[in-house]
Amino acid sequence: MAEILDGRKVAERIKAGLEERLSGLQTSPKLAIVLATDNQSTLAYVRMIRKTAEGTGMEADIIDLGPNTDQNAFTDKIKALAEDSEVNGIIIQTPVADGLEIDEARSLIPPGKDVDGANQLSAGRLASGLPAFAPATAQAVMEILENYDIPLSGRHAVVIGRSRVIGKPVSQLLLSKDATVTVCHSRTVDISLFTRQADILVAAAGKTGLVTKEHINPVKNTVVIDVGTNFKDGKMTGDTDFEGVRDLAGAITPVPGGVGPVTNAILLRNTLEAYLKQK
Ligand code: NAP
Repeated sequence: MAEILDGRKVAERIKAGLEERLSGLQTSPKLAIVLATDNQSTLAYVRMIRKTAEGTGMEADIIDLGPNTDQNAFTDKIKALAEDSEVNGIIIQTPVADGLEIDEARSLIPPGKDVDGANQLSAGRLASGLPAFAPATAQAVMEILENYDIPLSGRHAVVIGRSRVIGKPVSQLLLSKDATVTVCHSRTVDISLFTRQADILVAAAGKTGLVTKEHINPVKNTVVIDVGTNFKDGKMTGDTDFEGVRDLAGAITPVPGGVGPVTNAILLRNTLEAYLKQK
């Protein structure tokens, strides 16, 4: 039976470290979260980030532009936040309203305030092996592996998904730790051929139940990190059939309670890092 990799515990450890570092500061680091939607689950999610920030003694402002905002108002707001010396980190919460060009807005976030690694420059620097903020979810995967002392060098990491937010950056972060990385995506023929060879399996496809016990090789003790955050019958699920996979894997993150809480803590830690560099 797989060991459960508890994201909540990892997040608590990060937040405890943050609180200690924050206690020595004169002012609070500030994160600005820009919304342009009326999507209720997005609103609930950003309120949770704000609550977590406040719990650690940081500020998080939600700037709610609403679903009817136009491109100029959207980009003007990002430009204003970019210039505001009181704001240390900026994130644009997706999804944004239809018709808004998010890449233009992302490109306006200065890399030093780009605490969720959304700017194209941050992505390019990460891919080039240069210092940059990586997307917080990709960092969260690495943080869980590190917290549980899971060796990466020379091991085979299989990533399902190649998105800008998770699949690509997590593949680059795993490579930077000397793992051998295979990336699967929707056109991969028979992902189980690859997943059964995995020492580490990162599932980030956004498909409930995609990874079943047939994808796990029982002799490999595979460490499964389930990034998926999907909803089925009103219940949050990951990309793995948790019960089936748990029987054969070496370790697994639950959903909820795995990557999600760690991602939020990383966003705050990145905001503190940004603040310290800006002082
Ligand atoms: P995305 O942009 O939709 O990308 C999904 C990726 O999975 C794509 O590369 C896609 O391949 C691949 N894929 C889809 N179906 C597949 C299949 N049947 N077999 C193999 N690959 C398949 O999604 P995302 O933004 O990366 O998010 C992925 C999941 O992570 C979602 O459930 C999302 O909610 C979750 N998420 C979690 C957190 C967190 O903090 N826990 C944060 C962000 C997102 P193609 O490129 O070929 O289309």
